Amino acid sequence: MGGLYRGASYSQCVALDPSRTVAELKELRELTADENGAQRVAWTETWEQARAWLREKVAPTGATHEIDEAGNQWFTLPGASERALLIGGHMDSVPNGGWLDGCLDVLAGVEVLRRVAEEGTPPLTVRLVDWADEEGARFGRSLFGSSAASGSMADQDEIRRRTDANGVRWPDALAEHGVDLDRALGAGRRLEGAAAYLELHIEQGPVLESLDLPLGVVLGTFGVERHLVTWHGQAAHSGSTPMEQRRDALAGAAKLALEIRQIAAEVGDGAVCTSGGVVCKPGIVTSVVETAEQLLDQRHLDAAKLARLLELAREASERFAREERIEVEWEPLWRIDPIPFDETLIALADEAIREVAGASHRLPSGPLHDAAEVARAGIPTVMLFVQSLRGLSHTKVEDTKEEHVEFSVQALDRLTTKALEAFA
Ligand SMILES: [Zn+2]
Repeated sequence: MGGLYRGASYSQCVALDPSRTVAELKELRELTADENGAQRVAWTETWEQARAWLREKVAPTGATHEIDEAGNQWFTLPGASERALLIGGHMDSVPNGGWLDGCLDVLAGVEVLRRVAEEGTPPLTVRLVDWADEEGARFGRSLFGSSAASGSMADQDEIRRRTDANGVRWPDALAEHGVDLDRALGAGRRLEGAAAYLELHIEQGPVLESLDLPLGVVLGTFGVERHLVTWHGQAAHSGSTPMEQRRDALAGAAKLALEIRQIAAEVGDGAVCTSGGVVCKPGIVTSVVETAEQLLDQRHLDAAKLARLLELAREASERFAREERIEVEWEPLWRIDPIPFDETLIALADEAIREVAGASHRLPSGPLHDAAEVARAGIPTVMLFVQSLRGLSHTKVEDTKEEHVEFSVQALDRLTTKALEAFA
């Protein structure tokens, strides 16, 4: 049966049924949502209920079930090789969440597992992973399970101190669900021997809808530079200070807030810059602004271009400080490098999407995903995005056309076949 993977006609011989995925997503919604939306918050009873339901769904494929040291749920179909192709998603949701975020990825993966199992022994072992606590909704830290597996989790002391809104300590909640924080990094063993990682997700943004395309390939996740830019001028009376004698801190912030549009356009290739807030002191109508604290967020998929965004903004700020006879200082708040996905898999994903939907589009991801953690661990990774209606997610009105959900299952299936060939 292994020869089927080298043929182009598997779809005629086995039953991939994408409409079953739509039906199962609705079944899950019945089981774990209320009138306000999905309630599958990680480390709760409803989440455990969703995971038990998932286990029942996968059981007929013969895939074995395990929970790792970080609470991630793994389903394994042994292949001719122990090297594994991983397909991932997350069953947890935010409170009052939608019917697709995270669980579409997992349930599409279940449908692919069924098809692969029906065909016989695949050339690589195929593993479906339901990452624990992608959303971080209860304790305010995202990507728990995948960051433990990738080894990037380095904030165990902080995790130990975190509590939920009711004062429950995070380690206690973990223990209730069989996870010992001190052993969580042991989940990394599950990534040993991983050949590639695939993840399907709703876009959660407006790009594919604006292009009228159902599906796109994700190039990677944005790098981010976040700074506090503080401008220092001189407080002076609004009535008695002539215009040309003012040293107005807000003037510097205002100029920079507009200049970042030019900077983003100049650097291009999807660059985005946001001045997300300015706090003025003394902040009264009768005084020129003495201090303006400005928040700046800059993002790019390319590390050199991200650095260029920052450099241009700094240069502009110094120019504006001279023009306004004020001072400016920069303080880093947070940064992360861009995480590019795998070139080979991006090309295969493009092919898979074109076969299913006729046209593809390449786009970066603004939000981080479990896939970013897997890519950081050095495993070739790619994501597929399916169009989100109105770009909305993390709300019960999150939606995708059912036809597009079905396309996405087909695209993940085609990509799986291509990846099994390419990485075998
Ligand atoms: Zn998600």
